[in-house]
Amino acid sequence: MRRMPDGSRVAPGLDSKDMPACLNCGGRLCKGETKCFTCEMPVTQEKSKREVNLERVRLALTILFLLCLGLTIASIFTDFGPSFYKCAAATVILHFVRTSAVEMASPKGS
Ligand SMILES: [Zn+2]
Repeated sequence: MRRMPDGSRVAPGLDSKDMPACLNCGGRLCKGETKCFTCEMPVTQEKSKREVNLERVRLALTILFLLCLGLTIASIFTDFGPSFYKCAAATVILHFVRTSAVEMASPKGS
């Protein structure tokens, strides 16, 4: 248990802009804390905008990849659209871009 010396949960006068607060009791949370030390409620960390953007990029890349793959297969059987080699190259490039985007988005460590 950690508390402010005077017993209050939040020390008045301190700038709490950068400090997360417990959604349950409003208590101040330290960086890296996974649960509130006052009420023991787990800290839910909101997804950062970067993560949301990465998810959208991944989805877009997956759709593009599948489109290219479809075009590549279609170009084998038909002369309609770009040539097979162009489609195949685009598919391979998209595959690598997509894979690196997935790696970027996945959490590091354990
Ligand atoms: Zn709390």
